[in-house]
Amino acid sequence: MGFRNLKMVDRVVYGRGCLDQLDEIIRPHRKSGLPMIFLVDHFFEQKPLTSRIPISGNDKIIFADVSSEPKTSYVDDISAGLKKEFGSVSGIIGIGGGSVMDLAKAVSLMMNNPGSSADYQGWDLVQNPGVYKVGIPTLSGTGAEVSRTCVLTGPTKKLGMNSDFTPFDQIVLDPELTSNAPVNQRFYTGMDCYIHCVESLKGTFLNEFSKSHGEKALLLCEEVFLNKSEWNDESDDQLMMASYAGGMSIAYSQVGVAHAVSYGLSYLLGTRHGIGNCIVMNQLEEYYPEGVEVFRKMVEKNGVDIPQGITKGLSDVQFDTMIDVSMGMSPLWENALGKDWERIMTRKKLRTLFERL
Ligand code: NAD
Ligand code: ZN
Repeated sequence: MGFRNLKMVDRVVYGRGCLDQLDEIIRPHRKSGLPMIFLVDHFFEQKPLTSRIPISGNDKIIFADVSSEPKTSYVDDISAGLKKEFGSVSGIIGIGGGSVMDLAKAVSLMMNNPGSSADYQGWDLVQNPGVYKVGIPTLSGTGAEVSRTCVLTGPTKKLGMNSDFTPFDQIVLDPELTSNAPVNQRFYTGMDCYIHCVESLKGTFLNEFSKSHGEKALLLCEEVFLNKSEWNDESDDQLMMASYAGGMSIAYSQVGVAHAVSYGLSYLLGTRHGIGNCIVMNQLEEYYPEGVEVFRKMVEKNGVDIPQGITKGLSDVQFDTMIDVSMGMSPLWENALGKDWERIMTRKKLRTLFERL
């Protein structure tokens, strides 16, 4: 086994208001006759942001319905529709939360790969590079702007298209775009970043590359969610960089117990990523004692509600489904508990954990 040779995002622009540079940034990537497709979070329909999108020629805005997290069928519908309407496109530009980031990556890939996106859920299955793709996050925390995956729920699994073709060609990090996020959503997505850091820093895969990014991101999360008296513009600036650095940290390590368990919840119950991680993290003092203590302080300080009792009344079959999905995430468990993880995290032990959620 060699060392991981990370494929990273090609270009990054950062700063308040840098969205206004988008026209200039994408111009060299326009191909004659082929449109740029703006995949925009439906939250922004009829909002001022939409009027700042640099539409030209036959460009098209598609408002992405992210009322549930992205499915392979949705990716396939969008890419098939675009192929039918235009043949090909100049690029896909995703503007929104982590769900839209992932949709944009997946649609870009499916413009140049045959079959269904479900065929590529896994590691290094994607054959061809996608079309030019740009990510513009409007929530901070998931790290989807820098990752080499796009998480999709498919017919048989919830798994990303992990590949060297998946990272964006360009990201536009404009913290102003996150300023109107509701307190709860901002917290849940922000905690995704905090949890990435805890899982990376407490994991067995840790090296100095991951540690350096993870420690900084963790400090930034604590700064905005714990130390500051109130949320301000600087908090948006800081959380956007925390998300980036947290993403870079797990890029060279891995996430851990909270994510492995929360994938089970989300597969069965459709629990969204950010809140699902919070629900699980709240019960993980055995694995991450300091991390959970600080997490609970943040919850209290921000006056956010973490649901409890969400697995109450589920059947044995349903618990088994969640356990199967969770146990399938072996790299996450190995990072968290070491090579012998299967002896530590038995199905029985995992069932007890799921019952507490
Ligand atoms: P999200 O994208 O699912 O959005 C949550 C809600 O916030 C949606 O209703 C959306 O319309 C709304 N929203 C987005 N921006 C807003 C804004 N500025 N103001 C108000 N509302 C806004 O939330 P998320 O937590 O950013 O992303 C979660 C998704 O990211 C999941 O699908 C998860 O699987 C994925 N994810 C991907 C990676 C990766 O590496 N690819 C990592 C972590 C999570
Ligand atoms: Zn996450």
